[in-house]
Amino acid sequence: MGTGTLTIDLDAVGRNWRALDRLSAPTVETAAVVKADGYGLGAERVARALARAGARSFFVALAEEGAAVRAALGPGPEIFVLSGHMAGDAEMIGDLGLVPVLNTIDQLTRHLEVLPGRPYGIQLDSGMNRLGMEPAEWAAVRGLLGAAAPRLVMSHLACADEPGHPQNAAQLEAFRAMTAGLSVPLSLAATGGILLGPAYHFDLVRPGIGLYGGLPFEAAEPVAELDLPVIQWRDLEPGETVGYGATWEAEGPARIATVSGGYADGLLRAIGGSAVLWAGEVPCPIAGRVSMDLIAVEVTHLPEVPRTLSILGPQQTVDDLAAAAGTIGYEILTALGRRYRRRHLGDGSAAGPAA
Ligand SMILES: *Cc1c(COP(=O)(O)O)cnc(C)c1O
Repeated sequence: MGTGTLTIDLDAVGRNWRALDRLSAPTVETAAVVKADGYGLGAERVARALARAGARSFFVALAEEGAAVRAALGPGPEIFVLSGHMAGDAEMIGDLGLVPVLNTIDQLTRHLEVLPGRPYGIQLDSGMNRLGMEPAEWAAVRGLLGAAAPRLVMSHLACADEPGHPQNAAQLEAFRAMTAGLSVPLSLAATGGILLGPAYHFDLVRPGIGLYGGLPFEAAEPVAELDLPVIQWRDLEPGETVGYGATWEAEGPARIATVSGGYADGLLRAIGGSAVLWAGEVPCPIAGRVSMDLIAVEVTHLPEVPRTLSILGPQQTVDDLAAAAGTIGYEILTALGRRYRRRHLGDGSAAGPAA
């Protein structure tokens, strides 16, 4: 096998959903965000596992993603589309029963015109200034919605991963003010917002990254493991160098294993300086630069060269890799490449810890 093996533990995804669900009151619905192909882990498989765990509402970024999730889940679960109702999407939204979260008055007008009577949500901007209606726009239209009430009115926090950030309380207050007097379900919290406490929970919470084992949900179980096969190994004399730019030099006799996997597979070039690969419990430093399809690893200290080395797993999580690359776990997960063989464990229903 020339490609790496990405192992995705669907039972761990299910357990993470249940753990997040327990952080809010039983009256608060816990949805699941499966945008960007389930944060890179496979939206269809992940959505089915989450439905088995108990999720009834799902969020995607795009109508096309909603179509894939609908095909996986069948009729029944509610699928919200965060980009709203874009021109040309009416057929997909209507035929598949997707629920666009309308971000602008233009989207609202389009939706009410082309799919009258069909469900929709509303996104309000409470201070992030990315998506959603501003207070004045919302004030202008909220009285006109009449009988066609939205399924959900939501907003998104910009700083929820920093519990002490003053913008959290400011956005909470802005959202409360904009939704005062409404009698439709409200939602403000993603993973970070769930951890901020009950004031942020409203009627529905929308975790994404915590389901997939990432920060800020510190109690999350890791979900993804990545093992890379060793293609070749060689012994070096002192002074020989490894890789592009000849940036790594053997200080003494050294053994180098070359594994299959590189920046084209989402193993960002920036991890080269500080990430390691693991032979079981033994760390093995990356030697030189990560290249497109390959990484050279120093294995001088191993009694023998293993058939595979692990780059993602219990020893080195998505957040460890993210720290090595100067980014966030979200980017590591969604960058994971298409070339890996994907292996799924479980189906989301197992309650206990993984064997
Ligand atoms: C991505 C996203 C989420 C999920 O956020 P996490 O931080 O991954 O939990 C929730 N709501 C909106 C609007 C999003 O864009």
